[in-house]
Amino acid sequence: MKLGKFYIETYGCQMNEHDSEQMAAQLEELGYASTSDISSADVVLVNTCTIREKPEHKVYSFLGRLRKLKRRNPHMIIGVGGCVAQQHDSALLDRVPHLDFVIGTHQAGHLGELLETVRLKRTRLARTCFDTGVFSRRLLRARVHRAAAAARAYVTVMEGCDNFCSFCVVPYVRGRERSRPSREILQEVRRLTEAGVVEITLLGQNVNSYGRKDGDISFPQLLKRLGEVEGLARLRFTTSHPRDFSAEVIQAFADIPTLCGHVHLPLQSGSTRILRRMNRGYTRAEYLEKVKSLRQTRPGIAVTSDMIVGFPGETEKDFQETLSLMEKVRFDGLYSFQYSARPGTAASRMADDVPPEEKARRLKILQKLQDQHTLDGNRRMAGEVVEVLVEGPSRNSHREMTGRSRCNRVVNFPGKSELAGKLVSVRIEEGLKHSLRGTLISDISE
Ligand code: SF4
Repeated sequence: MKLGKFYIETYGCQMNEHDSEQMAAQLEELGYASTSDISSADVVLVNTCTIREKPEHKVYSFLGRLRKLKRRNPHMIIGVGGCVAQQHDSALLDRVPHLDFVIGTHQAGHLGELLETVRLKRTRLARTCFDTGVFSRRLLRARVHRAAAAARAYVTVMEGCDNFCSFCVVPYVRGRERSRPSREILQEVRRLTEAGVVEITLLGQNVNSYGRKDGDISFPQLLKRLGEVEGLARLRFTTSHPRDFSAEVIQAFADIPTLCGHVHLPLQSGSTRILRRMNRGYTRAEYLEKVKSLRQTRPGIAVTSDMIVGFPGETEKDFQETLSLMEKVRFDGLYSFQYSARPGTAASRMADDVPPEEKARRLKILQKLQDQHTLDGNRRMAGEVVEVLVEGPSRNSHREMTGRSRCNRVVNFPGKSELAGKLVSVRIEEGLKHSLRGTLISDISE
């Protein structure tokens, strides 16, 4: 029985994307159908991010725009999930009068029950309590179906974080670190690969500390077991914490051929003094040493990172250290942000003493430098033949397909839509600012 249509808007990280997939799978199991046309939706879910001020503002402005739609369709049910939901709880219902429900980060697996209560009782409610059974297994069947079509899937290995980096709200909105039993992860990965998934990305706020508290094996051991799963061509993981990025994890890049040649290793600052204020637990020198060892172990590996400019107390000298570290490492890609205080964090109690215009200036300089490094790295790929997992038609041209190389670069090439979900070989003709352009050589899935 079809109950109507649903639309999900996702903000934030891959964890949120994965939660949205789980929510979509639940709604489909209930009898809802997905739509990309929000005005025709009976249920609209907004999966939110509160890691910085800007994405949180975007959430409120999106919710504001929904008021008109709800006026036209009073039966529309609007829900908010994710980190903003967890942080603000029922206060969100007061702040957004046309909102029907709020669902916390640990409650994503109970979306179906919650929605049915709202729909049948026509009531408004918020459910945000932390729950130990956060890893939902019930959804696997529906998720396998969705993931098989894309040939790639996310698999959560751990949730939450105990690190309390001074700028970060994650431990407060995602709870403390919990690892999933390895047996469960392996079962899920096998089910996905049997259904045709060839690429798995392991997810967690700090995957390297998998098993430290409550798992049965360590993260490198988990990688080894997953490396033996038949049919799995590509294995990735995110996000890593440099402090816990051990010699054993680095060695896994030598031992496990399916482990893709890309690591996202968030640095945040190139100044040891600022790293200490951030409570990151490593120094500039230790970070550089790990990248060196990684590149020796797997030559050509792509390294990307996150950087914050204008953290409280960051001087020009600290900022110059960040730039000099970037020159040393030459990241293949970088997500960079101006610091914004997040309520409840340790850094929010420090004086936010870098003026906004100075933060903007530093960010501009940093991004210009990174653009050059990214372009240089992309140009160096010209002439190489790379394996690409095709995602679908490119946004810029319907005659082109897009996908990702093993080093996680976007590759566009002329090709037919039947290639979606397949592994192909592409010769790179040109490295551009944000992507690579190439020519199809062969379909290697067959
Ligand atoms: S490691 Fe630090 S930045 Fe990452 S989620 Fe945990 S507290 Fe946040």
